[in-house]
Amino acid sequence: MPMDDHGSVRTVCVECGDSVQVTVDWVPLARYLLGEQTVQVLFYDRAPAERDIIAGFRSSTYLCETCWDLIINEERQ
Ligand SMILES: [Zn+2]
Repeated sequence: MPMDDHGSVRTVCVECGDSVQVTVDWVPLARYLLGEQTVQVLFYDRAPAERDIIAGFRSSTYLCETCWDLIINEERQ
């Protein structure tokens, strides 16, 4: 890994297999992976969609927005 203080993490939607990535700083990412803080605290300045990708990178249970919408709509019917 290069000595940059940031890079990109990638995760895959468990439903459709689409892969998404987001650029993150390594320090807050490491603290998140160690469980020191929640993604909401460490990445408070990021868009919710970006936080979802970071959380999905850790948990491997990412759902993309398209699949979220499909599941929510199914539950409404
Ligand atoms: Zn999907």
